[in-house]
Amino acid sequence: MSSFAARINRTRTAATFAMAARARALRAEGKHILSLAIGEPDLPTPDHVIEAAFGAARAGDTKYPPIAGTEALRAAIARKFARDQHLSPPPDEVLVGNGGKQIIFDAVMAVIEPGDEVLIPTPCWAGYLQVVDFAGGKPIFLPGSANAGFRIDAASLDAAITPRTRLLLLNFPNNPSGAVADRAMLEAIATVLRRHRHVRVIADDIYEHLIFDGEYLAFAAVAPDLADRILTVSGVSKSYAMTGWRLGFCTGPRDWLRAMTLVQGTSTAGVSTTSQAAAVAALEGPQDLLVERCQIYRRRRDLVLTALAAAPGLTCTKPEGAFYAFPSIRGLIGRTSRTGHALNDDDDVAEALLEEALVATVPGSAFAMPGHIRLSTAAADDALAEACTRIADFCNALH
Ligand code: PLP
Repeated sequence: MSSFAARINRTRTAATFAMAARARALRAEGKHILSLAIGEPDLPTPDHVIEAAFGAARAGDTKYPPIAGTEALRAAIARKFARDQHLSPPPDEVLVGNGGKQIIFDAVMAVIEPGDEVLIPTPCWAGYLQVVDFAGGKPIFLPGSANAGFRIDAASLDAAITPRTRLLLLNFPNNPSGAVADRAMLEAIATVLRRHRHVRVIADDIYEHLIFDGEYLAFAAVAPDLADRILTVSGVSKSYAMTGWRLGFCTGPRDWLRAMTLVQGTSTAGVSTTSQAAAVAALEGPQDLLVERCQIYRRRRDLVLTALAAAPGLTCTKPEGAFYAFPSIRGLIGRTSRTGHALNDDDDVAEALLEEALVATVPGSAFAMPGHIRLSTAAADDALAEACTRIADFCNALH
């Protein structure tokens, strides 16, 4: 039998999903696992959103949708981009996909040839590594430092750009570090990009509504002269607790959107009509819930930071947004756990935490930044508190 395509050998399962699957399997064996592995709101999808999906199905909105999204949803997204991003795209400069993930896939597949370089500030969402590998692109990492709040250093960005650079991936608030962009940093990045006209940007703003310190700024609004090469991406998964509905969207230059629509039309015929109706209700309905939910995540961020302070060997930069904590585990390296696990790197720490403390986390290497672990704080307060206690007990028992 013939082998599979080379791109399959380059493709990996995201470590977050792999860890979540292990946590589920251990739970099925009867172990009381607390999973902080996956970045998914525990809060429910709002009722009026569910009602809208139900109503759409009942009303016969059950036929193939247009590939780029329904008229109603693209118009609602255009209004949302004006409201939150201070961008004013016409509805036909909006593309709807099966999650931010498909939008990013479309965008990368539309521009990356094998060997093209993609600049990825790290730590970064594991999904970027998957799609760049799939496309045959070459990830070029720009490591952030905890001391600089995991922000991007413009001089390092400038130095990393070569004639083969095609794309820069920006993600603020950041998964996994929680860093939020400030105007000075975005302006410094824009200054660099003005000198390098061949570099496009994906601004992945999927956590735009989850900011505790600082304010949300859309890169295309900070640097409108670069708008012809910036794709602004967001979605309903994180903001409205709609991960399972699979709905993301973007706006950007027409030629890029046209190419992306071809990619999307090749793999799917657009997003489920009921999910699109639900997204219209989310975007056009009451928005107070965004503020209320942000407060909940802020409280959990504070709870986790305070609780992790009791875990010797972990040091955590304060996340300014999103719903993750990304502590350094350097202080645990070289130690041995109570049951004899040698802790040589972040994989060992995540593994030992799972097996001994029964807490699922994800090693930082999955986010191209070893020496850390990521904890999702999108879990109930009591589960978070219990998980942190278990982690602190684990750290205290090391020798
Ligand atoms: N971008 C980032 C930074 C993420 O963390 C995620 C999900 O974890 C996504 C995009 C994709 O979200 P979705 O496909 O659910 O819209």
